[in-house]
Amino acid sequence: YGTEASLQKDEGTAEAKGYKGHDMLAPFTAGWQTTDLHPLVIERSEGPYVYDTNGTKYLDALAGLWSTALGGSEPRLVEAATKQLKTLPFYHSFWNRTTKPSLDLAKELIGMFTARKMGKVFFTNSGSEANDTQVKLVWYYNNALGRPNKKKFIARAKSYHGSTLIAASLSGLPALHNKFDLPAPFVLHTDCPHYWRFHQPGESEEDFATRLATNLENLILKEGPDTIAAFIAEPVMGAGGVIPPPATYFDKIQPILKKYDILLIADEVICAFGRLGTMFGCDKYGIKPDLVSMAKALSSAYQPIGAVLVSPEISDVIHSQSSKLGAFSHGFTYSGHPVACAVALEALKIYKERNILETVNSLAPRFQEGLKAYADSPIIGEIRGTGLIMGTEFVDNKSPNEPFPAEWGVGAIFGAECEKQGMLVRVAGDNIMLCPPFIMSHEELDMLIDRYGKALKGTEEKVKQLKLK
Ligand code: PMP
Repeated sequence: YGTEASLQKDEGTAEAKGYKGHDMLAPFTAGWQTTDLHPLVIERSEGPYVYDTNGTKYLDALAGLWSTALGGSEPRLVEAATKQLKTLPFYHSFWNRTTKPSLDLAKELIGMFTARKMGKVFFTNSGSEANDTQVKLVWYYNNALGRPNKKKFIARAKSYHGSTLIAASLSGLPALHNKFDLPAPFVLHTDCPHYWRFHQPGESEEDFATRLATNLENLILKEGPDTIAAFIAEPVMGAGGVIPPPATYFDKIQPILKKYDILLIADEVICAFGRLGTMFGCDKYGIKPDLVSMAKALSSAYQPIGAVLVSPEISDVIHSQSSKLGAFSHGFTYSGHPVACAVALEALKIYKERNILETVNSLAPRFQEGLKAYADSPIIGEIRGTGLIMGTEFVDNKSPNEPFPAEWGVGAIFGAECEKQGMLVRVAGDNIMLCPPFIMSHEELDMLIDRYGKALKGTEEKVKQLKLK
C-alpha cells in the first residue's frame, strides 16, 4: 500500500494487461507505476458512472477531474458538438476574424457573471492557459499604465493553478516546483487559509483570517506595494485538499489588495458553474475580482476549453493602449474553438434550463451531512467542504500535527478500498477529494456515502494492522 499506485487494481483488466509498460509519458504518474502496474483503462461512461475495459462499473466521485458536471452521457452536448463539426469544425479568432459560437459564448459569460461587471472574455483551451494568460494581461496592463515595476504575483501555499510554467509557479504545491526550477522569481506565496491545520490554540476562524490578512499586508509592505501586481486565489482550494476559506477571509483580504492597488484574480476553474451551490465561487464569498479564470464545467469537460473574464477597467486600458503598445500579442490556435464554444454554450443552457443551482443545493446537504457523519473515525482528522465538493484528511490521533507514516500510504489504502467498492476518488498523500457530477440521483448519492463508509471501515482495519506491526 506504499503509494498512490495502489489505486490501480492489482489484477488489471484483460485489456489493461496489454498496456502494462505503455507508451504514454502519463501526466502526474510515476514511471514505475506504468511499468510495474496495469493502467486503469476507462472505456465508456454513462451518467455518473465510468466503465473500465473489463466492464467494471465505477461511480465517478471526482467527475472526471473535477469537471464532468453533467456526467458522462449528455446527448445535448454530443449533438451541439456534432452540429458544429458539420457546419464549421474550425476557424480561429486571430486578427479580428472569429466565429459565432465564440462571440455568443463571450456574451453569455459576461452576462452570467454578476459578482461584478465584466468587460471582455479571452478564450483558452485549459485552466493552466487561462492562468498564464492572466499574468500576461496583468503585465500588459501595468506596462500600458507606465508601471513597469508592478509585476509580482502573490499566490497561496497549497493552491493549484495548473501545470504550465507560470501556472505551476503560481501553484503552492512543492511537487509542482521541485525538479522544475520553479517557482518563477516573480511569484511569492502567502499563507494557506486552512483553519483546522494552521490555526493557533484558542484562535477563532475570524482571528485566523485577520492574522492571514495581516501577514499578507506585511508581505506586500516588505516587497514594496509598487512591485506587487496581483493576488490569485481559488474561492475554495481544490487540489490542495478542498479547503474552504475561513469565515471573513475574503472580506479581510480584499480591502488590503484595494489599498495597494493590487489586482485580484479569482481562479474559478473548479468552483464555477454551481459546484459550491452558487453560480460562481465569487458569489458565495462576496469576491469582486478584476479577473476570473474558468474551465472544466464550462463545457462539462466534453471539449477542452478555458476562459478568462477581464474587468472593463483592464480591457479598456488594453484596448485604448494598443495603438501605442501594439496588439495584445497572445493567443492559441484553438482560442475560441467553435466546437468547444458550441458545447460550452449548450452546457450553460442546460445549467440554466435545469436550474443547476437548485439541483446542487438539493444534493449538497445530504452529501455534506452524510460524509461528515464519519468524522468520528479514529483515522480522520477533518472532513471539510461545501456544496458538492468535499475533502478528507487522514491523520493519527485526530491531530493535524500527527501524520501517519508516509510509507503506510493511508490515503492510497482508502483509494484502493474505494475502487474495491466501485468508486473513483482523488488521492493526494493522505488527502482524499470528492467532487461528484451534479446529475446524481439522491439514491446514487446515498450509494456514494455508503461506499465511502465501507472504504473507510476497510482502511481503519488496515491501519489497525499496520499499527500492530
Ligand atoms: N486552476 C484550478 C483551480 C484547477 O483545479 C486546475 C485543474 N485541476 C487548473 C487551474 C488547471 O486547469 P487545466 O488542468 O485545465 O490546465
